[in-house]
Amino acid sequence: MVLFGPPGAGKGTQAQLLAEQLKVSHISSGDLFRQHLQQGTPLGLRASEFMNRGVLVPDEVTIDIVLDKVLSLNAEDGFILDGFPRNRNQAEVLEDALMRRARGLDKVVYIQVPEPELVKRLAGRYSCRQCQAPHSIPKESLGPEGSAPDLTCQRCGGELYQRPDDRPKAVQKRIQVYQDETLPVLSYYQDRGILAEVSGVDKIECVNHRVLEALRASEPAGC
Ligand SMILES: [Zn+2]
Repeated sequence: MVLFGPPGAGKGTQAQLLAEQLKVSHISSGDLFRQHLQQGTPLGLRASEFMNRGVLVPDEVTIDIVLDKVLSLNAEDGFILDGFPRNRNQAEVLEDALMRRARGLDKVVYIQVPEPELVKRLAGRYSCRQCQAPHSIPKESLGPEGSAPDLTCQRCGGELYQRPDDRPKAVQKRIQVYQDETLPVLSYYQDRGILAEVSGVDKIECVNHRVLEALRASEPAGC
């Protein structure tokens, strides 16, 4: 499946929950990039330049990184894509690659969140340096210049930091790029009859419930 939605919709949080509930791999294009960055691979170095500016990484880099991971899974293993595909070309390349393996997407779940809410959320988003888990930090807990002193990951105790692409200037740009290039991918999946929409404005548990409902709706009767 693909979890689809604007930056700040909660795709990462939902994908982590679903991966545990459904026992499938969570494939986050952002996390894959960061792994390549930390390991200093040539693809990682190329990608970092674009990510820090809040613009999309060129297609061929993104596609190589994500497909390498998807195609490394066993044919019977499920997966959740988070942050990919981000444009029509990526959606088409993904479909081709899966079809060559006699696989396909069961569902694309679109998590909808209005723009003012996205901006508010991203301003308070901090990530763990170790496990990448996203955290939402209320404004009053932040120090000067958005610093987050003494905040540690609730999952692994690692250090929290704000990613360059979650800083205010980059956020505005990411939302614009999303509207121009990513949003049109919805009609691609609508045409294939696998698109489901859920509201992402609610507690994490409620959104999770909605996504699970949307997935169940795709199961054959009697399953
Ligand atoms: Zn952590």
